[in-house]
Amino acid sequence: MLKCREVYEIASDYIDGDLGRWARIQMRLHLAMCRHCSRLVRQLEYGRRIVREEAGSTVIESASTARSELLATYDARYAAPSGSGVEPPAHED
Ligand SMILES: [Zn+2]
Repeated sequence: MLKCREVYEIASDYIDGDLGRWARIQMRLHLAMCRHCSRLVRQLEYGRRIVREEAGSTVIESASTARSELLATYDARYAAPSGSGVEPPAHED
C-alpha cells in the first residue's frame, strides 16, 4: 500500500502513463481508498489535459498577441517624438 506522500511523488508519472504495471496497480488501489489522493490526481489530470489542448497554436498565438499588444503599449508610451517633455528637466542655473 502506497503512502499519500508516495502517491504525490509518482502522480505525474501515473498521469503520463510512465509508471510500471505494478506501480500503476498500487496507485489505483490507493486512489480507490483515498479520496484525498484521488482528488489530487483528478486535478493533475485536468491540468495536464488543459496544457495538452492548449499546447498547439492557441498558446503561441495568444502569447505573441499579448507580446505585440505589450509592444504597442510600450511604443505609445515611450516612443513619443523627441522634445515633447519626456527628458528629465535640465538645471535652470
Ligand atoms: Zn492518499
